[in-house]
Amino acid sequence: MPQDPISQAHSAAFAVDQITPSDLKLIRAEQVLKVAWRDGRNSVYPAALLRRTCPCATCRTDRDAQDRNPLHILKNVPPAELVIASAQLVGNYALQLFWSDGHGTGIYDFRYLRSLDAGG
Ligand SMILES: [Zn+2]
Repeated sequence: MPQDPISQAHSAAFAVDQITPSDLKLIRAEQVLKVAWRDGRNSVYPAALLRRTCPCATCRTDRDAQDRNPLHILKNVPPAELVIASAQLVGNYALQLFWSDGHGTGIYDFRYLRSLDAGG
């Protein structure tokens, strides 16, 4: 059974520098989020990946249902032309993304973002 990426993120051990961004950029023209972390690593997150891993309750419930039943039809399949319209910091621990289809409840905490970077 595939492990929920969010529980995975919260069980992973990160040093503070690994989950503290020194720079955050949403490059709208390329539809990527670039994060420079304090430990020196640079991460690039394509919009499609961020939407697929949206941590909001609606998307998580939907993904869980699909994990249990491969025939489950995802309720909120994003349109192909979906883009990130804007992003805003939430306190000093997370980033909230707003999508062109009106979805905007996903709050990506930095620990979660870092865990989405396949390179570590
Ligand atoms: Zn969502």
